Amino acid sequence: MDVRMRINPIACVGHGLCAELLPERVTLDEWGYPVVSAEPVPPRLEAHARRAVTDCPALALKLERIR
Ligand code: SF4
Repeated sequence: MDVRMRINPIACVGHGLCAELLPERVTLDEWGYPVVSAEPVPPRLEAHARRAVTDCPALALKLERIR
């Protein structure tokens, strides 16, 4: 199962934690808000992605199954 990270930009408050936990798929823009890659999260990074989702203080992240 392939997954990718999705963000709810309305809920996000820009802590930047997700970019620390999953820098391979999340970068921060010039205001400190995350830019999430639409690329699938490879299996080796799934644990990090799930941690980013559960640790997001705004519950703004989710993993979406893509196939
Ligand atoms: S951890 Fe959550 S609230 Fe913080 S920048 Fe990432 S998505 Fe936004």
